[in-house]
Amino acid sequence: VPEARAVIHCHPPYATAHAIAGIAPKGNFLPEQEVFVGPVAVAPYETPGTQAFAETVIPLARDHNTILLRNHGIVCWADTVTHAEWYVEVVETYCKTMMIASQLGGTSLKEIPPAKLAELLAIKKKMGLPDPRIGKDPNEREALPPYPAELSASQPSPGIQREIDRLVAEFTEKISSLVDRSA
Ligand SMILES: [Zn+2]
Repeated sequence: VPEARAVIHCHPPYATAHAIAGIAPKGNFLPEQEVFVGPVAVAPYETPGTQAFAETVIPLARDHNTILLRNHGIVCWADTVTHAEWYVEVVETYCKTMMIASQLGGTSLKEIPPAKLAELLAIKKKMGLPDPRIGKDPNEREALPPYPAELSASQPSPGIQREIDRLVAEFTEKISSLVDRSA
């Protein structure tokens, strides 16, 4: 995994509750979560400290910096320990906030619209952070092994993925030209 120089493993209660329930928090509700973490993967349970345990995480590491470990806790990684700790804070706060929002919101919870989400993904791409929704051309995507069944539900459909690719490319271009002008 590029830039993975620091790894933090811990058991914060709200994220761990999701890991016990086997439920990744729903996405597209807060910019901070989408940019720094994005879709959270759930790795199947294995005995901590074993090789089998390590192997549950490996297939998810290419696209995620934060993984829920079923019946256990979470693992986050980044270029520095400080950044990995930020991801812990972001995902724990997000899990807590989404639980509260679900209690309040019922059907009124509104996702960030797709075009605005693409702007966030363009920022994320610029920052070089991993995300299953960006950074791959279709051929490369084909060549990757499929996600485990538990995770495939969180993957966008091909049509939506193409639209996201187009919008991310468009916004990346826009952001680049803004940066060039201000330089
Ligand atoms: Zn542990």
